[in-house]
Amino acid sequence: MAQGTGPIREARSIGRAVVTGGAGFLGSHLCEHLLDRGVEVVCLDNFLTGSPQNVRHLMERPGFRLIRCDVTDFVHVPGPVDLVLHFASPASPLDYLKMPIETLKVGSLGTLHTLGLANDKGARYVLASTSEVYGDPLQHPQDEDYWGNVNPVGPRGVYDEAKRFSEAMTTAYRTYKGTDTGIVRIFNTYGPRMRPDDGRAIPAFIGQALSGRPLTVAGDGSQTRSICYVDDTVRGILAMAFSAEAGPINIGNPDELSVLRLAEWITELTGSASPIEFIDLPVDDPKVRRPDSTRAETRLGWRPSVSSEEGLRRTVAWFAEELGGRSVAAG
Ligand code: NAD
Repeated sequence: MAQGTGPIREARSIGRAVVTGGAGFLGSHLCEHLLDRGVEVVCLDNFLTGSPQNVRHLMERPGFRLIRCDVTDFVHVPGPVDLVLHFASPASPLDYLKMPIETLKVGSLGTLHTLGLANDKGARYVLASTSEVYGDPLQHPQDEDYWGNVNPVGPRGVYDEAKRFSEAMTTAYRTYKGTDTGIVRIFNTYGPRMRPDDGRAIPAFIGQALSGRPLTVAGDGSQTRSICYVDDTVRGILAMAFSAEAGPINIGNPDELSVLRLAEWITELTGSASPIEFIDLPVDDPKVRRPDSTRAETRLGWRPSVSSEEGLRRTVAWFAEELGGRSVAAG
């Protein structure tokens, strides 16, 4: 077995977990993986950007409960809780630019309420932070000691600063209240159950390619992203959840590629004849993005194992089925 892809090193046993944002893309995969490991799951979601459809296949599984709840109001979960995973938040730029106040509220009030729950229950707490805390980075690749380059009053500030605030709040609970917290900084993740219309590059390109529309590449497409397949990201998050690490720890795939290359690759994988169309670059769009994942390897024994080619192939196959069974280029 390759180093970093073996069993997670477990520092604790977890019987019951609360996943906020559990009906979203990452949250639904987390719920599923936790159930697979015999953990009971309480999924809290207000369906702002997620949907009950994402957890429909879990509804009949013993130990799974879905509760409609806005974590910015209050969070009350009767019974024991061993782990709180705070994943509620709009995550795609299209979503958080449409819902800036909701995004700031779930990063601030939502984090406060979920930390309170973890503290009351004596539970482990894991915050879903993001590579966006590095903003448009002046250091490349980004390690966890880099403080970032964020414009607080730019359009993306609503998301980036919400997450920076939530990291500060999580650290304060650890330092001043002794809550057992961990922070993961997640880099771009893709896979099944992303919404084709959520505005992120991979689902957008796949949706465009499968429907024969032009693939819209921002700027000249030379800006880079590092993309991680969802199963790898979830394995990294759970490694953090079952550990005693405080973090922050980057969870991301260091394989870096340009956005233009990504569009070309998706065109090949879908066998699409769609042309590439260049559109305006969004304000404050990061030019480069690549995790230094040394800390994840050394502290968690984690590193990604699914190649970008394999991950994209699986994702394209899923979208092709969702969008009406269009054929996907083989091999
Ligand atoms: P998503 O939009 O698919 O899921 C977010 C979920 O949170 C949705 O189901 C939404 O309905 C729910 N939600 C939002 N506000 C809520 C509230 N006030 N109360 C209860 N539920 C609420 O996004 P995702 O890609 O699955 O991201 C999940 C988390 O991971 C987010 O916190 C995001 O910032 C973080 N993250 C994701 C990525 C990525 O590449 N997907 C990268 C970095 C960080």
